[in-house]
Amino acid sequence: DGSAGELTAEPGTVGPIAPLLPVVGHDTLVPLVDGRQVTYSNLDVAASAPALESVAQRVAETLPLYASVHRGAGYLSQVSTALYEASRRAIGDFVGARADDLTLITRNTTDSLNLLAGCVPADPVSGAPGRVLVLDVEHHANLLPWQRLTDATVLTGGATVADTLAQVRDELAGGASAGRPYALLAVTGASNVTGESLPLAELAGAAHAHGARVVLDGAQLVPHRRFSLADSGVDYLAFSGHKTYAPYGAGALVGRRDWLDAGTPYLAGGGAVRRVRTGTTDWHDGPARHEAGSPNVIGAVALAAACEALAALDPAEVRAHEGELRRRLVGGLEAIDRVSVVKVWDDAADPVGVVTFTVTGYDPGLVAAYLSAEHGIGVRDGRFCAHPLLGRLGFDAGAVRASVGVGTAGEEVERLLAAVRALVADGP
Ligand code: PLP
Repeated sequence: DGSAGELTAEPGTVGPIAPLLPVVGHDTLVPLVDGRQVTYSNLDVAASAPALESVAQRVAETLPLYASVHRGAGYLSQVSTALYEASRRAIGDFVGARADDLTLITRNTTDSLNLLAGCVPADPVSGAPGRVLVLDVEHHANLLPWQRLTDATVLTGGATVADTLAQVRDELAGGASAGRPYALLAVTGASNVTGESLPLAELAGAAHAHGARVVLDGAQLVPHRRFSLADSGVDYLAFSGHKTYAPYGAGALVGRRDWLDAGTPYLAGGGAVRRVRTGTTDWHDGPARHEAGSPNVIGAVALAAACEALAALDPAEVRAHEGELRRRLVGGLEAIDRVSVVKVWDDAADPVGVVTFTVTGYDPGLVAAYLSAEHGIGVRDGRFCAHPLLGRLGFDAGAVRASVGVGTAGEEVERLLAAVRALVADGP
């Protein structure tokens, strides 16, 4: 009947791989009403990763202390304020914030990038919106804010990393020599479709050589690789708590202070101002400028706890764990008749564990529904909020995506592979 227990691994391909860190629910399978089981989202971490147990623990400890932040003299208000500010520091430290960088607590990557888009300086001479260069491989979160709020140019890129880098360099140089320099290059740290990336140091070097800054969409990078703003030379980083093993709706924007202090406050309201009179407002600088309203202290605490847990891991071990899971996933999928794995570039190095595939003759939505209904496996299907890329690669009908992280076990990858094999063996 296709129940999860009947699936077996392909002999000879595997030794066990244990999760590196426990996530909530990792050892409990919850029966659904029809008796089938759900897996947690350990194969869909690119969408949202289950919380680490240590994060859940920290949240449970903090909830009783929860009170208004920056707004009360009461003891618990002071504790909450201290926790919120300590979380901000821990988040900034985790991503190698420079001494003068700001760490803003946001809702998620989308929020962070929209905030920054409102702070890109206008051209000093013409007053026109600042120019931003972006590639078509981006998640909509790293495309639409630039298109809405800045003068954005979208490059298609080439079939190889080398060609794409050359195009980026040419475009940045062309803008500068035509007297219309780019203010910003906005680029993903790892594709949410394929896990691939462009070499960051070279991108940052090219941007800086032509007077542009770099913002990294770190949504798929920060949970999987140790990243440092200070070491990479990247100017701004955006990422999401719910993909970094911390739920509760917090994310961060970390980076250079000057644009953020000069930019229009992201939200208007309490906490963002020093003094208000009818008709005049004296806005704060620093994080408060953009964080009007009561902040998400539990979200910040959860994200900081996740950052601390990831910081305590050996980055080489994380890379090896996720790299081996990815290798098994890609190798196993490619060995199945009719299954193809999607890639953007022919020569991308060191992708993270995000793998998108199609099964010829099967609608991606049906593949995902089959995996869920028959095998309790949660994956993502569709166009992954990356319509331009999926269209260019010929996948307007969508695809299926599986992704792995520190909480994923080898056995979960094997279950997925066995389920896809079973689907194809049964025929459409
Ligand atoms: N950027 C990338 C690469 C992503 O994968 C995602 C989420 O899928 C986002 C941005 C948007 O993240 P969020 O929905 O947390 O704002």
